[in-house]
Amino acid sequence: MTPETTFIKNTKLLGSSKSYMKVLKFGGSSLGNREAISKVISILLNRIENKEKIIVVVSAFSGITDQLIGLSRSNQSKRSQKALQSIKNRHIDVIKFFFNNSEQQDVLQQFDNLYQELTKALQFNLQKQDELKRNQDHIIGFGERFSAQIITSLLKKNNVNTLYTDTRTLIKTNDNYGFAKIRKSISYKNISDYYHIHTDKVIVATGFIASTINGHSTTLGRGGSDYTASVIGAATSAEAVEIWTDVDGLMTADPEKVPSAITIDQISYKNAEGFSKYGAKVIYPPTIKPAMKYDIPIYIKNTFRPGLNGTLIHNRSINSTNSIYGIVTIPNVTLLTMKCRSAESVGNFLPKRFTNRNQEIKIVEHSIDNNLIKIAIINQNISESALKIEHTIQEEFNGQIDKFELFEGLSMITIIGRHASILSVKSLIARKLTLYDKAVRSMIYNKKLKTLSIFTESKFENQLLNDLHNMLITEENVANS
Ligand code: ADP
Ligand code: ASP
Ligand code: MG
Repeated sequence: MTPETTFIKNTKLLGSSKSYMKVLKFGGSSLGNREAISKVISILLNRIENKEKIIVVVSAFSGITDQLIGLSRSNQSKRSQKALQSIKNRHIDVIKFFFNNSEQQDVLQQFDNLYQELTKALQFNLQKQDELKRNQDHIIGFGERFSAQIITSLLKKNNVNTLYTDTRTLIKTNDNYGFAKIRKSISYKNISDYYHIHTDKVIVATGFIASTINGHSTTLGRGGSDYTASVIGAATSAEAVEIWTDVDGLMTADPEKVPSAITIDQISYKNAEGFSKYGAKVIYPPTIKPAMKYDIPIYIKNTFRPGLNGTLIHNRSINSTNSIYGIVTIPNVTLLTMKCRSAESVGNFLPKRFTNRNQEIKIVEHSIDNNLIKIAIINQNISESALKIEHTIQEEFNGQIDKFELFEGLSMITIIGRHASILSVKSLIARKLTLYDKAVRSMIYNKKLKTLSIFTESKFENQLLNDLHNMLITEENVANS
């Protein structure tokens, strides 16, 4: 038995006696401005007054990671001083708002120490690709360090015994910068030991960031603070993980795109994973597994409406009379189709070769139907990725591919629901959807996950999505009520 399996077995035993502690994660959308931060602090103080034991995980203030990424990519001479100044101003504004003159000095000093470290990291003009990537991850992680420091100081100001925690000291990863993979055994042990040493304090931890065994900073992928919270929850056998954000919970569609979207009361880990895999940004896909493994419920809650129940993600099936659970979208997808004489073997080869999330090429979906293979890719450099896939397949299956076609800039709309209902949806939308002929380019049905993905040009996305939501969710809800 490897040390990793021994440890996980032990933790599993611990898991049966939960530690009556909850991990509360606040995303950038809950840390956007003074008002939002006031809400966060009042939620935390409420829990602490109620004698609840909590660990807090925070993301960077909204938009800061994007700005840091921009800075890390531009070279020194072209670097925008404006972006750097705006990062500084956002944090100083919050500090000056929440702390009076006599308190400010220490907090400003702490901020300035980190800020100086950031400006130094930005002065490197690195040439070698690996050094560049390493330095980029170091730079983009400053947002979480700034915000965790400020939230720690705010709790201290309110007489809470608080401990700022830089998760780079606890969570260890490989050196896949930008998408680092967590080394579970050592990370879980570090977190668990740390938690047990500091049980008397409220730990305020940085989301998103980690480090290699050699101490180089890494990041866990965009949206990775959710994952940090789940890993901390799993390592400490927490009673629950709460993801606090700017919407009422996991909803039947992105409420920004579908105003009639409905909050889902409860959903299974597996279905929630489907939502996030197919585009529901509210929860980062790798977050589900650690919680699921140790049977830790995840709640998604709205920082701006804390009285609402939100969504409970747990090990039971969805409790709904509806046969369709939700419809989610991924923008900017490329669809690669090919006709192939040995479609089955290409289909088996594809996932093994390309679906690792650490790869620069990300296949989100694929299907094989009557010698026709369809592959949906999301990637920054789409044409190059598609070419790479085409090239790899041509090499592996020399001469067996007849025709490749590439459709760029599509939106992928995925319907998630019960198996039988998804099948009936396929014919229903062909019959009833007004936009069908014009807008639906292609479809992929995923038998295993029971999802149906529809590919459309982005200009049709909004209408198609809202029509589908009306037809499959709103109308069915009315019929069932
Ligand atoms: P945070 O900053 O709190 O991590 P994110 O921006 O990462 O928040 O995720 C919250 C956003 O996810 C919401 O504002 C919403 O627009 C989007 N979203 C996409 N799909 C869904 C869905 N099915 N349910 C709820 N929110 C969704
Ligand atoms: N701040 C990071 C991001 O913007 C991590 C997170 O928000 O979860 O991706
Ligand atoms: Mg997020």
